[in-house]
Amino acid sequence: MNNFIFYSPTEFVFGRGTEAQTGVLVKKYGAHKVMVVYGGGSVVRSGLLACVEKSLQEAGIAYCMLGGVQPNPVDTKVYEGIELCRKEQVDMMLAVGGGSVIDTAKAIAAGAPYDGDFWDFYIGKSIVTKALKVAVVLTIPAAGSEGSGNTVITKVDGLQKLSLRVPSLLRPVFAVMNPELTYTLPPFQTACGIADMMAHIMERYFTNTQEVEIGDCLCEGTLLAIIKEAATVMKEPQNYGARANLMWCGTIAHNGTCGVGCEEDWASHFLEHEISAIYNVTHGAGLSVIFPAWMTWMVEHHVDKIAQYAIRVWGVPESEDKKSVALEGISRLKAFFKSIGLPVTFAELGIENPDIDRLADSLHRNKGELVGNYVQLTQKDSEEIYRLAL
Ligand code: NAP
Ligand code: FE
Repeated sequence: MNNFIFYSPTEFVFGRGTEAQTGVLVKKYGAHKVMVVYGGGSVVRSGLLACVEKSLQEAGIAYCMLGGVQPNPVDTKVYEGIELCRKEQVDMMLAVGGGSVIDTAKAIAAGAPYDGDFWDFYIGKSIVTKALKVAVVLTIPAAGSEGSGNTVITKVDGLQKLSLRVPSLLRPVFAVMNPELTYTLPPFQTACGIADMMAHIMERYFTNTQEVEIGDCLCEGTLLAIIKEAATVMKEPQNYGARANLMWCGTIAHNGTCGVGCEEDWASHFLEHEISAIYNVTHGAGLSVIFPAWMTWMVEHHVDKIAQYAIRVWGVPESEDKKSVALEGISRLKAFFKSIGLPVTFAELGIENPDIDRLADSLHRNKGELVGNYVQLTQKDSEEIYRLAL
């Protein structure tokens, strides 16, 4: 196991009715004026936004609103938010929604106190040294952004989708998580969230770091819980227990717990970011296509941990022939994705003829000559993986 620092100060307030505590929590963290950020309207329709506003008013907190964040959030909304933030002298961002809303709030939090262009942080031109506090009322278990220090934004000009990781400043101070708020999710969004949280775990599980049994077991256990609850929730969208377990799995998957002391991979996420940037598909659906392809490529290049995963997560019988074990595990993963309505090929994702040269070229221009860690991928390797997803 490698040396590590694990700093996860987010206060998670979990359970039925917890959204009514938002105003009190905002006050507790010392904010005077918050910017409420939300998406395309699901929180208006569900009544959640009105409930959050009421709670802020009761706590005597002033606020302004920024709505209209789109899935695969874009830089133009961040600029709009930064301007509004400065004008209104906001001191806390309150994201009410999913990963897209939270990531936009984090980008604004970093950009508002900064003199230059916030995009500098995403391209590594500058480092975040100061940020407004971020808080969350979560409506979809998926990105895990409620417990992570990460944000992912797409630059409209050039369709560059890049992530930024600043755990010390961008982890939310609190996250309100009521599983009942996820009852209204369309089945496809529920399924995409499941693929994303599984991917967050697998990016950590496929590591070369040795002596990480605790990490392996946390990853395997959380994956098993997700697989079990996924089947329930697809049949019974209003099953509180299944929704609650999935919601907490989504947080555990990405708040660092599963990967402490490991060198993480992240190649599948970066391969996917190119797909969702260029073709504007849902992140989780891109992952259900690309992760099995990445694993299939690994069977020929570094099979060990893929075989372990097949045995310990998918119950494939042990055998000397690690490649067959691994391939059976991948086939069970694909069958699972299909069973919850997710695509596993580009065609099923609605992209008949993906421009593989463009995807791989953009990936390596954004991320450098080598991508990932389990095996470091060259541009030629990335092209092969995209081809395995056809
Ligand atoms: P999302 O993009 O925030 O939301 C997806 C869709 O679900 C939206 O159309 C939204 O509608 C709808 N929705 C959300 N909650 C709902 C509810 N309770 N009922 C009905 N509809 C609801 O989803 P996400 O998967 O959480 O975020 C995806 C983004 O996060 C991607 O850009 C991905 O790359 C990024 N990501 C970030 C991290 C990180 O650590 N920061 C990690 C992985 C992925 P409305 O817009 O109408 O609300
Ligand atoms: Fe993700």
